[in-house]
Amino acid sequence: MIVMKFGGSSLANAAKILSAAKIVKGRLRRQPVVVVSATGGTTNRLEKLGEAAARGTWKKQFVEIVANHDAIAVKLGLEDRLLTGETADLRRIAGRIAKSRKLTEASRARLLSFGERCSTKLLSGTLRSLGVESSANNSFELGMLTDTDHREAKILPEAFKLLSASISKLPGVPVITGFLGRTKGGQVTTLGRGGSDVSASIIGAALGVKEIEIWTDVSGVMTADPRVVSGAWPVRKLSFSEAAELAYFGAKVLHPRTIAPAIKKSIPVRVLNTFNPEDRGTVIVSKSRETGIIAKAIAHKKGITAVNINSLRMLEAHGFLARVFKVFDRYNVSVDMITTSEVSISLTVDDTRNLKPAVKELEEFASVSVLPRRAIVCVVGEGMKRVRAMAGRIFSCLGREDINIEMISQGASEINVSFLVHEREVKASVRALHRDFFGK
Ligand code: ADP
Ligand code: ASP
Ligand code: MG
Repeated sequence: MIVMKFGGSSLANAAKILSAAKIVKGRLRRQPVVVVSATGGTTNRLEKLGEAAARGTWKKQFVEIVANHDAIAVKLGLEDRLLTGETADLRRIAGRIAKSRKLTEASRARLLSFGERCSTKLLSGTLRSLGVESSANNSFELGMLTDTDHREAKILPEAFKLLSASISKLPGVPVITGFLGRTKGGQVTTLGRGGSDVSASIIGAALGVKEIEIWTDVSGVMTADPRVVSGAWPVRKLSFSEAAELAYFGAKVLHPRTIAPAIKKSIPVRVLNTFNPEDRGTVIVSKSRETGIIAKAIAHKKGITAVNINSLRMLEAHGFLARVFKVFDRYNVSVDMITTSEVSISLTVDDTRNLKPAVKELEEFASVSVLPRRAIVCVVGEGMKRVRAMAGRIFSCLGREDINIEMISQGASEINVSFLVHEREVKASVRALHRDFFGK
């Protein structure tokens, strides 16, 4: 068995859905279980619909989303009433949000579920039209149990057994909604934006599949974000740790939580291109071969906030770090990067929702400055363990470009060096490092 996950970019219109279906048909011997995202752009449109509904006007967005899906179904020659149930549900929820003028996290998740529920029907309908037995399934009915964080839900341990029992009973090629789960109380949840990758690896681990394939619009994990470095190329092989670091530090091609379930069961993850299915793509395995290459890829993440905390009281005192982190813990603020000196701590925060009250509390015993619009750049590679002075090489490379590094940190795993720059210097940083490590 294998899992094949198709992202929204691979399903953005009728022609693309047909290509995806043909790729699945070509792999029937490997007993594929298919996981899908919403068709490209749909989740963003649904987010807008939710916001509009909360302001009381939603008809225009509703009509556009539904018309777009109906047009795809018609082009694919699928039955007329294929999406009637989903459409009625969307109308009901949007209407309810508009009436109460309130978009709760639960109704947002329910609203967004329209995207994946429709795309499973579109793809499995297309598979049937190609003569392949297939069914559309909601992951939340198959046992994808989560906690009650409707936006960034985490999978509960009991989900694995439930998923394995229910999916293995399904005949033909099951097409399953990515991104969605449900609470024990039966409410729909979402696994965070880009979360269909996570669904795929959870389902792969639950079934103990041979391989998890992530089908997307590029030919693998590339040496850098191809939107920033036009000359980036696909990396053939990555270790789980390398891929996890790259995903965590912004390589959008994989959601950061994709790798953990695959590691547990040692299932290879392969990233492949729907539009060039013959390309080899990237394979992610427990150990990647030492190739003599130092750095494998560069990732970057914008929208980072740096927090500098200074206190003279820290001099020769103990317990200061504990005190600071207790505050972050209490406000549920998660910290990415951290450096300390005798009298100061610098750290970075990605999600700033609860940062304000945390800073207020820190200011009771330290002076705090908050610097928004920062970016983390991260160079990753198992080969870096062997090389000394990586930080020095990065400093001098960026120094030549006159780029100011605000923080630098090397992970304990020694396979990454990450540093912080101002957002306006992130592109120049990634390009300069790509030239330095990978040549032209
Ligand atoms: P999908 O719709 O298949 O989930 P995503 O848009 O989430 O696709 O992810 C694929 C995109 O990730 C690529 O088109 C590319 O722009 C971006 N990306 C960022 N960093 C990398 C990287 N290092 N390698 C490959 N793609 C990357
Ligand atoms: N459709 C969801 C999103 O756009 C999940 C995914 O694409 O993985 O975030
Ligand atoms: Mg994605």
